[in-house]
Amino acid sequence: MTNGVFEYQRPASLEEALAAMQEQQAMALAGGTDFVSMRNAGAIDPTVTVDIKGVAELRGINERAEQTTIGACTIMSELATLSRPAFGALRDGAGVVGAVQTRYRATLGGNVCRSSPAGDTLAPLLVLNSGATLEAMGAKRQVPLPEFFTGPGLSARRPDELLTSLSLPHLEGASAYQRHTYRAWMDLAVVGVAVWVRTEGGRCLAASVAICGAAPTPRLVPEAADALVGLSVEDERFDEAQAAVLRAADPIDDVRGSRAHRLDALSVLVKRVAQTAFSRAQGR
Ligand SMILES: Cc1cc2nc3c(=O)[nH]c(=O)nc-3n(C[C@H](O)[C@H](O)[C@H](O)COP(=O)(O)OP(=O)(O)OC[C@H]3O[C@@H](n4cnc5c(N)ncnc54)[C@H](O)[C@@H]3O)c2cc1C
Repeated sequence: MTNGVFEYQRPASLEEALAAMQEQQAMALAGGTDFVSMRNAGAIDPTVTVDIKGVAELRGINERAEQTTIGACTIMSELATLSRPAFGALRDGAGVVGAVQTRYRATLGGNVCRSSPAGDTLAPLLVLNSGATLEAMGAKRQVPLPEFFTGPGLSARRPDELLTSLSLPHLEGASAYQRHTYRAWMDLAVVGVAVWVRTEGGRCLAASVAICGAAPTPRLVPEAADALVGLSVEDERFDEAQAAVLRAADPIDDVRGSRAHRLDALSVLVKRVAQTAFSRAQGR
């Protein structure tokens, strides 16, 4: 225990930040919207707090030929500028995090590193086939997002590594994300669903489906994606996709909702979100 005594560092460059992360029990502070409450609750106890907000290399959205790279410290409100239809789910997810004030502080990298089963950008990043870039002093590696989340609040990131960016390939088609909450704003997802689709003549040629708040980690549901292929927005039969999602889900009972309620909400959301993605893919 540090007994409340800790060192605070504010590196100006990525190199300085990676050097500071070498210290034992060093932890990154990005927007602080999770970090501060976790530290106050005693859930984390860093000896060195490495404030990475001022590191320019960790911010911004870079659109390249085949993929878009988003710096880990890019704040949620900036994600509203992502204009590709395929990135709709990520815009949706970032757009419901907390309140306006939260979205001007909370970062995409913080949401990913917090690795909450119900994080609102995580199912969107999964259906968009994203990858995480992790860096430590003298080492850099890429981790596909499905391999990043290892348990509730747990990830493949090593203690001395910083998540530096997320890369999103330029998929065709469109995507959407919606969550079920009890209040319209300032509430965490009871469950959420993200869907990406590529369509031709209104019919689905390829799809990806991910769920959150429904299992120890956000997860892809390939069987639900397969069940969407061949469907269109006019279809009413989403039962196979709904059944596949319910088979993949393993929600808990807690204050936010019973297992049965979560499963009911998931079933409704799969159809609704798939229809939104289909409509968007047709430019509606
Ligand atoms: C009022 C309020 C409402 C909220 N509503 C929502 C909501 O609706 N949906 C939702 O998903 N979340 C919500 N949250 C949670 C939080 O805002 C998000 O998880 C946010 O994205 C965290 O980002 P941050 O930059 O604040 O991370 P921080 O709090 O700074 O960090 C979170 C964790 O990630 C680590 N970390 C951060 N960045 C990096 C990095 N680049 N490399 C390595 N480790 C890193 C930190 O060490 C810490 O353990 C809410 C929080 C508050 C306070």
